[in-house]
Amino acid sequence: MNVDKAMEKLKEEGYKYTDKRMDMLQLFKDESRYLAAKDVLEALKDKYKGLSFDTIYRNLSLFSDLGILETTELAGEKKFRFTCSTDHHHHHLICLECGKTRHIDECPMDVSPVSAEGFAVTGHKFEVYGYCNECQES
Ligand SMILES: [Zn+2]
Ligand SMILES: [Zn+2]
Ligand SMILES: [Zn+2]
Repeated sequence: MNVDKAMEKLKEEGYKYTDKRMDMLQLFKDESRYLAAKDVLEALKDKYKGLSFDTIYRNLSLFSDLGILETTELAGEKKFRFTCSTDHHHHHLICLECGKTRHIDECPMDVSPVSAEGFAVTGHKFEVYGYCNECQES
């Protein structure tokens, strides 16, 4: 996912193209890591006076409903990042400190496929948490 594709998607779905939305998406592009709504507020509050946490949260939820952002829960807080543009099935290593992610191609479902009788598996989630090289040094 990138800013242009995201704006296209918004237009397709009938949502308005606003500078605020554009700036939010640009922030996710520049940061390329998991951000909480309060991080987005922190980054944009000087430019948009009176911008509320609710407005940001509503927009981030919309972006995630449209598949523009993906979400995870870190330390009890919902975090957002751009959805990966690859169709290739993969999982993420997520740094708990800075929110940066790395791809891992190993999939636990390949190693031990689930076969539960009477249950049709349609997908799965798998994330690995820890600290990236940079965050281990500091
Ligand atoms: Zn990815
Ligand atoms: Zn880190
Ligand atoms: Zn997998």
